[in-house]
Amino acid sequence: MIPDWPSERKAMTEQQLRRRGIRDPRVLGAMLEIPREEFVPPESRVCSYGDEPVSIGYGQTISQPYITAFMVELLELQGDEAVLDVGAGSGYHAAVLGALAASVVSVEILPALAAVAESNLTRTGRHRNVTVVAGDGSRGWPGRAPYDAISVAAAAPDVPPALLEQLKDPGRMVIPVGARTDQELLVITRKEGRIESRVATYCRFVPLRGERGWR
Ligand code: SAH
Repeated sequence: MIPDWPSERKAMTEQQLRRRGIRDPRVLGAMLEIPREEFVPPESRVCSYGDEPVSIGYGQTISQPYITAFMVELLELQGDEAVLDVGAGSGYHAAVLGALAASVVSVEILPALAAVAESNLTRTGRHRNVTVVAGDGSRGWPGRAPYDAISVAAAAPDVPPALLEQLKDPGRMVIPVGARTDQELLVITRKEGRIESRVATYCRFVPLRGERGWR
């Protein structure tokens, strides 16, 4: 039997997001709109709307729906932003960003996953304003910089300097920073030349690789 995906998506949005405090109607709308089951590998598809991360192979995971919604809400997107997404993985998070901003560049260090993300985004018709590139996102993606918003889905030992350089004024970045096993999810804002940082929550992400990531 094929699950009723729209009902599962609606239940997830109510129970996992709205009840836990996700309020931005545009974010809730995007989470209701993007077919998460299309981004989950076929063998895990029944878990598409579960309240936990799902393996996407290569030791990587798609974050649980709440974390995606929470990170995206923190970026306060209005619709006209250029966004950098580091860690494309399945492409799901990039699809949600694409529904809320003008354009998204999503960088993925593992070429095989970049291909998966690209194909998922194309199949779901989300590639119009979302571009996947294979490369080291710890160096940002200078070709399309600067960005109004930056979202990082892998944990860094520190904030990579290139990401700060590529963030506009005003601009916002969401990034997990800390030890390999547990981190703080930081919201970094640049406004009128000043950079501020606050801890939004504690979290556990897969490690960021590359030049400014973990060896
Ligand atoms: N946002 C993704 C899940 C990300 S998991 C989704 O919605 O499916 C984190 C991803 O970051 C993994 O795919 C991992 O390969 C990637 N990654 C790790 N270090 C990276 C780097 N330096 N640059 C780009 N991607 C990186």
